[in-house]
Amino acid sequence: MQYYSTTNRELKVSLQEAVLKGLAPDNGLFMPLTIPTFPEAWMEELSNLSFREIGYRVIGALFSSDLTDAQIQELVDHTLTFDAPLVEVEQNVFSLELFHGPTLAFKDFGARFCAKLLGMLVGTSAKKTRILVATSGDTGSAVANGFLNVAGVEVIILYPKGKVSLLQEKQFTTLGKNIICLEVEGVFDDCQALVKQAFLDPELNEKLILTSANSINVARWIPQCLYYFYAYSRLPKKTGKIVFSVPSGNFGNLAAGILAQRMGLPISQFIAATNENKVVPTFLTGSYFEAKPSIPTLSNAMDVGNPSNFPRLVNLFEGDEEKFRNQVKGYFFSDAQTVQAMQSVYRLGYTLDPHGAIGYLGLKKFLEIDKDYQGIFLETAHPGKFQEVVEKAISEKLKLPERLAIFQKGEKNTIPLTASFESFKQFLSALD
Ligand SMILES: *Cc1c(COP(=O)(O)O)cnc(C)c1O
Repeated sequence: MQYYSTTNRELKVSLQEAVLKGLAPDNGLFMPLTIPTFPEAWMEELSNLSFREIGYRVIGALFSSDLTDAQIQELVDHTLTFDAPLVEVEQNVFSLELFHGPTLAFKDFGARFCAKLLGMLVGTSAKKTRILVATSGDTGSAVANGFLNVAGVEVIILYPKGKVSLLQEKQFTTLGKNIICLEVEGVFDDCQALVKQAFLDPELNEKLILTSANSINVARWIPQCLYYFYAYSRLPKKTGKIVFSVPSGNFGNLAAGILAQRMGLPISQFIAATNENKVVPTFLTGSYFEAKPSIPTLSNAMDVGNPSNFPRLVNLFEGDEEKFRNQVKGYFFSDAQTVQAMQSVYRLGYTLDPHGAIGYLGLKKFLEIDKDYQGIFLETAHPGKFQEVVEKAISEKLKLPERLAIFQKGEKNTIPLTASFESFKQFLSALD
Protein backbone atom coordinates (compact mmCIF):
# COMPACT_ATOMS: atom_id res chain seq x y z
CA MET A 1 0.00 0.00 0.00
CA GLN A 2 1.20 3.48 -0.78
CA TYR A 3 0.74 6.56 1.36
CA TYR A 4 0.09 10.03 -0.06
CA SER A 5 0.56 13.47 1.42
CA THR A 6 -2.50 15.49 2.50
CA THR A 7 -1.04 18.51 0.69
CA ASN A 8 -0.40 16.69 -2.59
CA ARG A 9 -2.12 13.46 -3.63
CA GLU A 10 0.55 12.87 -6.27
CA LEU A 11 3.27 12.59 -3.65
CA LYS A 12 3.23 8.87 -2.80
CA VAL A 13 5.64 6.82 -0.72
CA SER A 14 5.97 3.26 0.61
CA LEU A 15 4.93 2.26 4.14
CA GLN A 16 8.59 2.14 5.13
CA GLU A 17 9.23 5.69 3.98
CA ALA A 18 6.01 6.99 5.56
CA VAL A 19 6.92 5.48 8.93
CA LEU A 20 10.61 6.37 8.93
CA LYS A 21 10.02 9.96 7.75
CA GLY A 22 6.92 10.65 9.83
CA LEU A 23 6.06 13.88 8.03
CA ALA A 24 5.86 14.17 4.22
CA PRO A 25 8.63 16.29 2.61
CA ASP A 26 6.01 18.92 1.66
CA ASN A 27 4.97 19.05 5.35
CA GLY A 28 1.72 17.18 4.67
CA LEU A 29 0.51 14.20 6.68
CA PHE A 30 0.59 10.72 5.17
CA MET A 31 -2.69 8.93 4.42
CA PRO A 32 -3.31 5.39 3.10
CA LEU A 33 -4.02 5.52 -0.64
CA THR A 34 -7.05 3.24 -0.30
CA ILE A 35 -9.14 2.60 2.79
CA PRO A 36 -10.32 -1.02 2.84
CA THR A 37 -13.96 -1.62 3.81
CA PHE A 38 -15.53 -4.52 5.66
CA PRO A 39 -18.93 -5.97 4.74
CA GLU A 40 -21.87 -5.28 7.05
CA ALA A 41 -22.07 -8.97 7.92
CA TRP A 42 -18.63 -8.73 9.55
CA MET A 43 -19.87 -6.04 11.92
CA GLU A 44 -22.41 -8.54 13.23
CA GLU A 45 -19.70 -11.13 13.86
CA LEU A 46 -17.50 -8.69 15.77
CA SER A 47 -18.97 -9.49 19.18
CA ASN A 48 -17.67 -13.06 18.90
CA LEU A 49 -14.09 -11.95 18.35
CA SER A 50 -11.41 -11.04 20.89
CA PHE A 51 -9.66 -7.65 20.80
CA ARG A 52 -6.63 -9.28 19.16
CA GLU A 53 -8.73 -11.13 16.58
CA ILE A 54 -10.34 -7.83 15.63
CA GLY A 55 -6.82 -6.37 15.46
CA TYR A 56 -5.51 -9.08 13.08
CA ARG A 57 -8.36 -8.43 10.67
CA VAL A 58 -8.28 -4.65 10.68
CA ILE A 59 -4.50 -4.36 10.60
CA GLY A 60 -4.40 -7.20 8.07
CA ALA A 61 -6.73 -5.30 5.75
CA LEU A 62 -4.50 -2.22 5.93
CA PHE A 63 -1.01 -3.75 5.96
CA SER A 64 -1.18 -7.16 4.23
CA SER A 65 0.58 -5.90 1.09
CA ASP A 66 3.58 -4.80 3.17
CA LEU A 67 3.84 -7.33 5.99
CA THR A 68 3.54 -11.11 6.34
CA ASP A 69 0.72 -12.69 8.35
CA ALA A 70 3.24 -13.56 11.06
CA GLN A 71 4.41 -9.94 11.25
CA ILE A 72 0.83 -8.68 11.46
CA GLN A 73 0.14 -11.09 14.29
CA GLU A 74 3.32 -10.08 16.12
CA LEU A 75 2.48 -6.40 15.69
CA VAL A 76 -1.04 -6.76 17.04
CA ASP A 77 0.04 -9.05 19.91
CA HIS A 78 2.71 -6.56 20.96
CA THR A 79 0.21 -3.66 20.85
CA LEU A 80 -2.84 -5.25 22.47
CA THR A 81 -1.32 -6.59 25.67
CA PHE A 82 -4.01 -4.92 27.77
CA ASP A 83 -7.77 -4.56 27.59
CA ALA A 84 -9.97 -1.56 26.79
CA PRO A 85 -13.14 -2.27 28.77
CA LEU A 86 -16.44 -0.57 28.04
CA VAL A 87 -18.08 0.52 31.31
CA GLU A 88 -21.67 1.75 31.53
CA VAL A 89 -21.62 4.90 33.67
CA GLU A 90 -25.25 5.88 33.16
CA GLN A 91 -27.97 4.46 30.97
CA ASN A 92 -26.71 4.67 27.37
CA VAL A 93 -23.53 6.45 28.47
CA PHE A 94 -20.44 4.26 28.22
CA SER A 95 -16.83 4.97 29.14
CA LEU A 96 -14.28 3.31 26.87
CA GLU A 97 -11.32 2.91 29.23
CA LEU A 98 -8.15 3.31 27.20
CA PHE A 99 -5.81 3.66 30.18
CA HIS A 100 -4.95 0.09 31.03
CA GLY A 101 -1.58 0.15 29.25
CA PRO A 102 1.87 0.51 30.82
CA THR A 103 1.83 4.33 31.05
CA LEU A 104 -1.90 4.64 31.82
CA ALA A 105 -2.91 6.73 28.80
CA PHE A 106 -4.36 5.85 25.40
CA LYS A 107 -1.08 6.91 23.75
CA ASP A 108 0.26 3.46 24.70
CA PHE A 109 -1.69 1.92 21.79
CA GLY A 110 -0.08 4.12 19.15
CA ALA A 111 3.37 4.12 20.74
CA ARG A 112 3.56 0.33 21.09
CA PHE A 113 2.37 -0.25 17.54
CA CYS A 114 4.74 2.37 16.16
CA ALA A 115 7.68 0.91 18.06
CA LYS A 116 7.11 -2.63 16.84
CA LEU A 117 6.46 -1.59 13.23
CA LEU A 118 9.48 0.67 13.15
CA GLY A 119 11.56 -2.18 14.55
CA MET A 120 10.33 -4.40 11.69
CA LEU A 121 10.97 -1.80 9.01
CA VAL A 122 14.53 -1.00 10.14
CA GLY A 123 15.22 -4.63 11.04
CA THR A 124 17.59 -5.36 8.17
CA SER A 125 19.83 -2.33 8.63
CA ALA A 126 23.12 -2.98 10.43
CA LYS A 127 23.12 0.50 11.92
CA LYS A 128 21.13 1.42 15.00
CA THR A 129 18.15 3.74 14.48
CA ARG A 130 17.90 6.58 16.99
CA ILE A 131 14.54 8.04 17.87
CA LEU A 132 14.73 11.57 19.21
CA VAL A 133 11.80 12.66 21.36
CA ALA A 134 11.22 15.95 23.11
CA THR A 135 8.57 15.61 25.79
CA SER A 136 6.65 17.68 28.28
CA GLY A 137 5.61 14.45 30.03
CA ASP A 138 3.12 12.01 28.52
CA THR A 139 4.61 11.36 25.10
CA GLY A 140 8.02 10.48 26.52
CA SER A 141 6.65 7.77 28.77
CA ALA A 142 4.43 6.18 26.10
CA VAL A 143 7.20 6.19 23.48
CA ALA A 144 9.89 4.95 25.89
CA ASN A 145 7.75 2.11 27.20
CA GLY A 146 6.69 1.21 23.66
CA PHE A 147 10.25 1.01 22.39
CA LEU A 148 11.79 -0.65 25.43
CA ASN A 149 13.79 -3.70 24.27
CA VAL A 150 12.99 -3.18 20.56
CA ALA A 151 16.11 -4.46 18.78
CA GLY A 152 18.04 -2.08 16.54
CA VAL A 153 16.42 1.01 18.03
CA GLU A 154 17.61 3.42 20.70
CA VAL A 155 15.34 6.12 22.12
CA ILE A 156 16.79 9.45 23.23
CA ILE A 157 14.37 11.48 25.31
CA LEU A 158 14.89 15.15 26.03
CA TYR A 159 12.84 16.66 28.82
CA PRO A 160 12.94 19.94 30.76
CA LYS A 161 14.56 19.52 34.16
CA GLY A 162 12.10 20.03 37.00
CA LYS A 163 9.20 20.75 34.63
CA VAL A 164 7.52 17.34 34.46
CA SER A 165 5.71 15.70 37.35
CA LEU A 166 7.73 13.26 39.47
CA LEU A 167 5.49 10.45 38.42
CA GLN A 168 5.83 11.24 34.73
CA GLU A 169 9.60 11.50 35.09
CA LYS A 170 9.80 8.09 36.74
CA GLN A 171 7.84 6.54 33.88
CA PHE A 172 10.69 7.05 31.44
CA THR A 173 13.87 7.70 33.45
CA THR A 174 13.80 4.38 35.31
CA LEU A 175 13.71 2.06 32.29
CA GLY A 176 17.39 1.94 31.26
CA LYS A 177 18.34 -0.51 28.46
CA ASN A 178 17.75 1.16 25.07
CA ILE A 179 16.16 4.27 26.60
CA ILE A 180 18.46 7.25 27.23
CA CYS A 181 17.12 10.28 29.07
CA LEU A 182 18.61 13.74 28.77
CA GLU A 183 17.59 16.15 31.51
CA VAL A 184 17.77 19.53 29.83
CA GLU A 185 18.52 22.75 31.67
CA GLY A 186 15.60 24.64 30.06
CA VAL A 187 11.93 24.45 29.10
CA PHE A 188 10.03 22.11 26.76
CA ASP A 189 10.47 24.48 23.80
CA ASP A 190 14.27 24.22 24.24
CA CYS A 191 14.04 20.44 24.05
CA GLN A 192 11.94 20.62 20.93
CA ALA A 193 14.32 23.10 19.33
CA LEU A 194 17.31 20.83 20.04
CA VAL A 195 15.58 17.87 18.39
CA LYS A 196 14.55 19.90 15.35
CA GLN A 197 18.06 21.23 14.92
CA ALA A 198 19.54 17.74 15.15
CA PHE A 199 17.28 16.55 12.31
CA LEU A 200 18.58 19.42 10.16
CA ASP A 201 22.27 18.94 10.96
CA PRO A 202 24.04 17.38 7.93
CA GLU A 203 27.00 16.05 9.92
CA LEU A 204 24.85 14.22 12.45
CA ASN A 205 22.60 12.78 9.75
CA GLU A 206 25.62 11.55 7.86
CA LYS A 207 26.84 9.65 10.87
CA LEU A 208 23.61 8.48 12.55
CA ILE A 209 20.16 7.26 11.51
CA LEU A 210 17.88 9.72 13.27
CA THR A 211 14.11 9.50 13.22
CA SER A 212 11.10 10.70 15.19
CA ALA A 213 8.05 8.91 16.54
CA ASN A 214 5.80 11.90 16.91
CA SER A 215 2.04 11.79 16.98
CA ILE A 216 1.46 12.53 13.31
CA ASN A 217 3.31 9.38 12.22
CA VAL A 218 0.88 6.98 10.46
CA ALA A 219 2.22 4.18 12.65
CA ARG A 220 0.96 5.99 15.73
CA TRP A 221 -2.25 7.19 14.13
CA ILE A 222 -3.70 4.12 12.40
CA PRO A 223 -3.74 1.59 15.31
CA GLN A 224 -6.01 3.95 17.25
CA CYS A 225 -8.91 2.86 15.01
CA LEU A 226 -8.79 -0.59 16.63
CA TYR A 227 -10.49 0.32 19.88
CA TYR A 228 -13.45 1.89 18.07
CA PHE A 229 -14.16 -1.51 16.50
CA TYR A 230 -13.63 -3.20 19.83
CA ALA A 231 -15.93 -0.77 21.70
CA TYR A 232 -18.67 -1.38 19.15
CA SER A 233 -18.19 -5.14 19.48
CA ARG A 234 -18.75 -4.93 23.26
CA LEU A 235 -21.92 -2.79 23.17
CA PRO A 236 -24.67 -4.95 24.64
CA LYS A 237 -27.20 -3.81 22.08
CA LYS A 238 -26.23 -2.78 18.59
CA THR A 239 -29.51 -1.44 17.30
CA GLY A 240 -30.08 2.27 16.89
CA LYS A 241 -27.64 5.09 16.40
CA ILE A 242 -24.21 5.31 18.00
CA VAL A 243 -22.20 8.41 18.89
CA PHE A 244 -18.55 8.61 20.03
CA SER A 245 -17.32 11.59 22.03
CA VAL A 246 -13.57 12.13 21.78
CA PRO A 247 -11.66 14.45 24.15
CA SER A 248 -9.25 16.06 21.71
CA GLY A 249 -6.03 18.03 21.46
CA ASN A 250 -4.16 17.20 18.27
CA PHE A 251 -7.17 15.30 16.92
CA GLY A 252 -5.37 12.08 16.00
CA ASN A 253 -7.74 10.05 18.13
CA LEU A 254 -10.85 11.53 16.52
CA ALA A 255 -9.38 11.12 13.03
CA ALA A 256 -8.77 7.43 13.81
CA GLY A 257 -12.45 7.04 14.75
CA ILE A 258 -13.46 8.49 11.40
CA LEU A 259 -11.04 6.07 9.73
CA ALA A 260 -12.89 3.20 11.47
CA GLN A 261 -16.17 4.62 10.19
CA ARG A 262 -14.76 4.76 6.64
CA MET A 263 -13.85 1.08 6.99
CA GLY A 264 -17.51 0.31 7.58
CA LEU A 265 -18.04 0.67 11.34
CA PRO A 266 -21.64 1.90 11.81
CA ILE A 267 -21.01 5.12 13.76
CA SER A 268 -23.62 7.81 13.10
CA GLN A 269 -22.02 10.76 14.82
CA PHE A 270 -18.79 12.04 16.38
CA ILE A 271 -18.23 14.71 19.00
CA ALA A 272 -15.04 16.76 19.08
CA ALA A 273 -14.85 17.69 22.76
CA THR A 274 -12.17 20.16 23.86
CA ASN A 275 -11.17 22.39 26.74
CA GLU A 276 -10.78 26.15 26.18
CA ASN A 277 -8.42 25.38 23.29
CA LYS A 278 -11.41 25.38 20.99
CA VAL A 279 -10.22 26.08 17.44
CA VAL A 280 -11.94 22.95 16.07
CA PRO A 281 -15.32 23.47 17.83
CA THR A 282 -15.18 27.06 16.57
CA PHE A 283 -14.54 25.82 13.03
CA LEU A 284 -17.38 23.29 13.34
CA THR A 285 -19.91 26.00 14.19
CA GLY A 286 -19.20 27.69 10.88
CA SER A 287 -16.06 29.81 11.25
CA TYR A 288 -12.73 29.48 9.53
CA PHE A 289 -10.03 27.28 10.98
CA GLU A 290 -7.66 29.59 12.79
CA ALA A 291 -4.73 28.39 14.94
CA LYS A 292 -4.37 30.15 18.32
CA PRO A 293 -1.70 30.17 21.03
CA SER A 294 -2.47 27.38 23.51
CA ILE A 295 -4.16 28.11 26.84
CA PRO A 296 -3.16 26.09 29.94
CA THR A 297 -6.03 24.06 31.45
CA LEU A 298 -6.63 21.16 33.84
CA SER A 299 -6.81 18.73 30.91
CA ASN A 300 -3.29 19.70 29.91
CA ALA A 301 -2.64 16.91 27.38
CA MET A 302 -5.23 18.70 25.22
CA ASP A 303 -3.75 22.20 25.48
CA VAL A 304 -3.16 22.51 21.76
CA GLY A 305 -3.76 25.71 19.82
CA ASN A 306 -2.81 24.38 16.39
CA PRO A 307 -4.05 20.78 16.14
CA SER A 308 -1.63 18.84 13.96
CA ASN A 309 -4.11 16.26 12.67
CA PHE A 310 -6.61 18.81 11.34
CA PRO A 311 -5.50 18.22 7.70
CA ARG A 312 -6.24 14.51 8.19
CA LEU A 313 -9.80 15.31 9.30
CA VAL A 314 -10.41 17.55 6.28
CA ASN A 315 -8.92 14.86 4.06
CA LEU A 316 -11.21 12.14 5.46
CA PHE A 317 -14.20 14.30 4.45
CA GLU A 318 -12.61 14.92 1.04
CA GLY A 319 -12.59 18.64 1.71
CA ASP A 320 -16.39 18.75 2.09
CA GLU A 321 -16.78 21.10 5.06
CA GLU A 322 -20.54 20.73 5.20
CA LYS A 323 -20.29 16.97 5.54
CA PHE A 324 -17.55 17.44 8.15
CA ARG A 325 -19.76 19.80 10.19
CA ASN A 326 -22.74 17.44 9.93
CA GLN A 327 -20.92 14.36 11.13
CA VAL A 328 -18.78 15.96 13.81
CA LYS A 329 -20.28 18.22 16.47
CA GLY A 330 -17.84 20.39 18.40
CA TYR A 331 -18.22 21.42 22.04
CA PHE A 332 -15.77 23.01 24.45
CA PHE A 333 -15.76 23.23 28.25
CA SER A 334 -14.12 25.29 31.00
CA ASP A 335 -12.01 23.99 33.90
CA ALA A 336 -14.92 24.71 36.24
CA GLN A 337 -17.20 22.49 34.15
CA THR A 338 -14.50 19.82 34.08
CA VAL A 339 -14.32 19.80 37.89
CA GLN A 340 -18.13 19.71 38.18
CA ALA A 341 -18.31 16.73 35.83
CA MET A 342 -15.67 14.86 37.87
CA GLN A 343 -17.72 15.57 41.01
CA SER A 344 -21.13 14.60 39.67
CA VAL A 345 -19.88 11.40 38.00
CA TYR A 346 -17.96 10.48 41.17
CA ARG A 347 -21.28 10.60 43.02
CA LEU A 348 -22.59 8.08 40.48
CA GLY A 349 -19.73 5.78 41.47
CA TYR A 350 -17.26 6.42 38.65
CA THR A 351 -13.99 8.37 38.70
CA LEU A 352 -13.12 10.46 35.64
CA ASP A 353 -9.78 12.03 34.83
CA PRO A 354 -9.94 15.65 33.53
CA HIS A 355 -9.66 14.54 29.86
CA GLY A 356 -12.36 11.88 30.14
CA ALA A 357 -14.50 14.48 31.93
CA ILE A 358 -14.39 16.65 28.79
CA GLY A 359 -15.43 13.64 26.68
CA TYR A 360 -18.27 12.91 29.10
CA LEU A 361 -19.47 16.54 29.02
CA GLY A 362 -19.47 16.54 25.20
CA LEU A 363 -21.53 13.38 25.13
CA LYS A 364 -24.06 14.64 27.67
CA LYS A 365 -24.50 17.88 25.79
CA PHE A 366 -25.15 16.01 22.58
CA LEU A 367 -27.63 13.61 24.23
CA GLU A 368 -29.60 16.58 25.60
CA ILE A 369 -30.39 17.53 22.03
CA ASP A 370 -30.86 14.03 20.67
CA LYS A 371 -31.72 11.28 23.16
CA ASP A 372 -32.05 8.68 20.46
CA TYR A 373 -28.44 7.50 20.71
CA GLN A 374 -26.16 5.18 22.59
CA GLY A 375 -23.08 7.16 23.52
CA ILE A 376 -19.49 6.19 24.15
CA PHE A 377 -16.92 8.65 25.47
CA LEU A 378 -13.21 7.89 25.40
CA GLU A 379 -11.56 7.86 28.85
CA THR A 380 -8.02 8.63 27.66
CA ALA A 381 -6.05 8.56 30.93
CA HIS A 382 -6.20 6.91 34.33
CA PRO A 383 -7.40 9.41 36.99
CA GLY A 384 -4.30 8.50 39.05
CA LYS A 385 -2.15 10.13 36.38
CA PHE A 386 -3.72 13.45 37.34
CA GLN A 387 -3.86 12.63 41.01
CA GLU A 388 -3.73 16.16 42.44
CA VAL A 389 -6.46 17.60 40.23
CA VAL A 390 -8.75 14.62 40.67
CA GLU A 391 -8.28 14.32 44.46
CA LYS A 392 -8.98 18.02 44.86
CA ALA A 393 -12.16 17.73 42.75
CA ILE A 394 -13.62 14.71 44.50
CA SER A 395 -12.19 15.44 47.99
CA GLU A 396 -11.01 11.84 48.33
CA LYS A 397 -7.67 10.06 48.12
CA LEU A 398 -7.20 7.95 45.02
CA LYS A 399 -5.91 4.43 45.07
CA LEU A 400 -3.05 4.32 42.58
CA PRO A 401 -2.75 1.26 40.35
CA GLU A 402 0.15 -1.08 40.97
CA ARG A 403 1.94 -0.28 37.72
CA LEU A 404 2.28 3.35 38.82
CA ALA A 405 3.69 2.20 42.13
CA ILE A 406 6.27 0.02 40.33
CA PHE A 407 7.61 3.03 38.42
CA GLN A 408 7.77 5.01 41.65
CA LYS A 409 10.17 2.47 43.14
CA GLY A 410 12.57 2.55 40.16
CA GLU A 411 15.91 4.37 40.20
CA LYS A 412 16.07 7.54 38.08
CA ASN A 413 18.91 7.51 35.58
CA THR A 414 19.54 10.62 33.44
CA ILE A 415 22.29 12.56 31.73
CA PRO A 416 22.33 16.32 32.41
CA LEU A 417 22.51 18.60 29.37
CA THR A 418 22.57 22.34 28.85
CA ALA A 419 20.11 23.74 26.32
CA SER A 420 22.85 24.60 23.82
CA PHE A 421 22.90 22.71 20.54
CA GLU A 422 26.69 22.35 20.79
CA SER A 423 26.43 20.14 23.86
CA PHE A 424 23.63 18.06 22.35
CA LYS A 425 25.60 17.62 19.16
CA GLN A 426 28.65 16.59 21.13
CA PHE A 427 26.61 13.99 22.96
CA LEU A 428 25.15 12.58 19.73
CA SER A 429 28.49 12.61 17.93
CA ALA A 430 30.00 10.41 20.64
CA LEU A 431 27.44 7.64 19.95
CA ASP A 432 28.55 4.78 17.73
C1 LIG B 1 -2.80 13.16 24.01
C2 LIG B 1 -4.00 13.11 24.87
C3 LIG B 1 -5.29 13.54 24.41
C4 LIG B 1 -5.50 14.16 23.06
O1 LIG B 1 -5.47 13.23 22.00
P1 LIG B 1 -5.31 13.74 20.50
O2 LIG B 1 -5.23 12.51 19.67
O3 LIG B 1 -4.06 14.56 20.45
O4 LIG B 1 -6.53 14.55 20.18
C5 LIG B 1 -6.38 13.36 25.25
N1 LIG B 1 -6.23 12.85 26.49
C6 LIG B 1 -5.03 12.44 26.97
C7 LIG B 1 -4.95 11.90 28.35
C8 LIG B 1 -3.88 12.55 26.18
O5 LIG B 1 -2.68 12.15 26.67
